[in-house]
Amino acid sequence: AKSEERNAFRFYSPIMQADARKRLQLASELRQALANDEFRLVFQPSLDLRTGRVVAAEALLRWQHPKRGLVMPDNFIPMAESLGLIRRIDEWVLRAACAWIKQWEHERVAPIRIAVNVSASWFGHPAFIEGLQRALRDYQVDPKRLLLEITESAILRLGEGTHRTMYALHTMGVGVAIDDFGTGYSSLAYLKLPAVVCLKIDRTFITGIPRNADDVAIVEAILAMARSLRLYAIAEGIEDEEQHEFLLRAGCEEGQGYLYARPLEVPDLMRMLKSGG
Ligand code: C2E
Ligand code: CA
Ligand code: CA
Ligand code: CA
Repeated sequence: AKSEERNAFRFYSPIMQADARKRLQLASELRQALANDEFRLVFQPSLDLRTGRVVAAEALLRWQHPKRGLVMPDNFIPMAESLGLIRRIDEWVLRAACAWIKQWEHERVAPIRIAVNVSASWFGHPAFIEGLQRALRDYQVDPKRLLLEITESAILRLGEGTHRTMYALHTMGVGVAIDDFGTGYSSLAYLKLPAVVCLKIDRTFITGIPRNADDVAIVEAILAMARSLRLYAIAEGIEDEEQHEFLLRAGCEEGQGYLYARPLEVPDLMRMLKSGG
């Protein structure tokens, strides 16, 4: 699988993006992928740092390409965005995540919150709320089970319509996490928007703790701000015990990272949930 990933990366490299013929080919392959069920979701657990229990999982997209093998999202999402296909992909992801939530409810698997990444292009689209409502209705999903992850930079790009969308989400009871928090050089005004319930501290700050004094200061400041705004915090990209210890002592509620689990295929997630992880 490793060499397949490398091939896939070369094929979709930014140099190729300049090539119009290749772009057309990728666009048609992405449409085929949607039609032929080549996408699937893996789920990375997120743990309550105090109890060590899995409280949530983030849905992450994987593309099983018929010829090129497994293609990772960083190697097609940016291009899907520039090709105007990301909205359809995001909606596919949301509906697939809702279908899983419903199935797990049937199987009486312990309920956890499922986080879904939403791109600026869909979040800012007039049909977004309607698409979300349709998915929740079609799969009878409790809105509280869902968390939408929007990157800080996406929110900054959106402007006006963001407020309306956030109020609609709040009314529906769907929470929003600010993803990759700390990387957007932003005004912090949007943290007051009603649907925003969570800050996801970017991995680039977690990597440096506890040794890098700047990263320590930034993470502590984000946690203090989250507390006073009554938002909860998730640290992403926790890879070792020292980072875990630091975050636990600093009062971070939740954490995600290779230390606990990689993104898992559904049967592996089920095993982890059933073993009480
Ligand atoms: P993200 O939303 O920041 O997701 C976290 C990424 O970090 C995931 O990569 C995850 O596998 C990886 N990760 C988690 N823990 C660790 C760790 O401890 N160390 C390291 N080095 N990495 C860790 P992945 O699955 O390759 O996804 C990459 C990005 O692609 C995501 O970043 C997100 O921006 C985008 N993406 C993934 N799925 C979707 C989707 O369904 N829709 C949209 N719009 N974007 C998606
Ligand atoms: Ca995310
Ligand atoms: Ca993130
Ligand atoms: Ca990130």
